[in-house]
Amino acid sequence: MSHDLYPSFPLSPPAAEALARLHAAGHEAWVVGGCVRDVLLGQTPKDYDITTSALPEETKGVFPDCHIIETGIRHGTVTVVLGDEPLEITTYRVDGGYSDARHPDGVTFTRSLREDAARRDFTMNAMAYAPGLGLRDFFGGREDIQNAQIRAVGDPVIRFREDALRILRGVRFASVLGFSLETATETAARQEAALLSGLSAERVAAELDKLLRGKDAGRVLQTYPDLLGQVIPELLPMAGFDQRNHHHCHDLLTHTAVAVDHVPPVLPLRLAALLHDVGKPRCFSLGEDGEGHFYGHARESTAMAGEILRRLRFSNSVREKTETLIRYHDSVIEEDPRLVRRWLNRLGEETFFDLLALQRGDTVALAPAYCTRQDHFRRLEALAREILAETPCLQLRDLAVNGHDLMALGLQGRAIGAALHFLLDQVLEGTVPNKKEALMQRLHEYLAKNSLI
Ligand code: ATP
Ligand code: MG
Repeated sequence: MSHDLYPSFPLSPPAAEALARLHAAGHEAWVVGGCVRDVLLGQTPKDYDITTSALPEETKGVFPDCHIIETGIRHGTVTVVLGDEPLEITTYRVDGGYSDARHPDGVTFTRSLREDAARRDFTMNAMAYAPGLGLRDFFGGREDIQNAQIRAVGDPVIRFREDALRILRGVRFASVLGFSLETATETAARQEAALLSGLSAERVAAELDKLLRGKDAGRVLQTYPDLLGQVIPELLPMAGFDQRNHHHCHDLLTHTAVAVDHVPPVLPLRLAALLHDVGKPRCFSLGEDGEGHFYGHARESTAMAGEILRRLRFSNSVREKTETLIRYHDSVIEEDPRLVRRWLNRLGEETFFDLLALQRGDTVALAPAYCTRQDHFRRLEALAREILAETPCLQLRDLAVNGHDLMALGLQGRAIGAALHFLLDQVLEGTVPNKKEALMQRLHEYLAKNSLI
């Protein structure tokens, strides 16, 4: 156990004040868990959690002037809002059977910081710090961080059986931090992997979100398809799947992992990279020339991705965005202003650029001969930026004429909508500028030619 002092340990002013107040009232209190890990990693913590010997009622008594939220009180947590910062303050707690036997509402509190640390998942997440007292590292978390190792606290098999989410948290931290699972922890994770299928969709989705956005998501995907396959079984046939196609130098899972690593760490993009080819095994056929084909795989992958993301209860907006990206992931976008305007019109600016990002990542993961395609994407992106910089007209609302202008021509009801669509189409084609006079003139010609006026 280390008792080093960390005079430079950065605490937010509210966290420092909360610790000082609890200490002054005679309680033990420490910042604990993720924030201590992050500081030892040289990162700035997102938030500070506090663990204390004070019972929840006692904690409330220390902050009579603060707004207090009691949502977690059954687990011993009160959220104290101090200087606008919500701090979770949790009474020392054990989840196993050993304690000094205080059991309010099924939660077992303890007087011992060590016991509180022992209930935590990994050694790097089981450290505590307090000013003047230093670091408490009961299980070698600091050394594990130095060695980039994720090690369960205690017997990993028992810990994963208590809560299988820890398996997924382990691979999530591997992805986010670029760490490895220590051998016994990894063996237990694989051995107990089947437990993952019993977890709630929401808990799984929250971990997948972080895992996929991690810097080592591709490596984790390739190293642990057996674990991830428990939560997304559709991934399993991709491992080792030989595409038998000269465009591809990787098996399907490796191709997918490379694509994931080569799109920006934004959830719908990473999900789209993960699932863009998930329908390929079902669509596989072998040509007479011995080449593998995957006719209709974009549509099949879109449908499967929709099903997977619904099942895991991702938000509708994340699911719909992901589906759109997968639907068009292998559409060829030509370097033609007319066609680029049409794509921008169909997808909107943000999704269009996300689609380019996905196509780039997908291309990196093809056979090396395709690296020249990156130039194509660079040119496409420049072209789209040029089009957008010209304050373009890409939607009906951007047209320089509106319904009132057309009524003046004598149009009514549905004819107005049809005329606006006609004009937008002409503008996207580039056959008429988006100027009121020119548009009215073109419409007039069109109506006259078709004997509509
Ligand atoms: P993040 O940076 O994503 O917030 P975190 O480690 O802080 O990571 P939290 O979910 O905020 O994760 O949990 C705070 C602390 O609670 C963890 O550091 C760990 O000590 C403990 N913990 C969280 N989930 C579990 C779990 N399933 N089993 C055991 N301990 C857990
Ligand atoms: Mg946290």
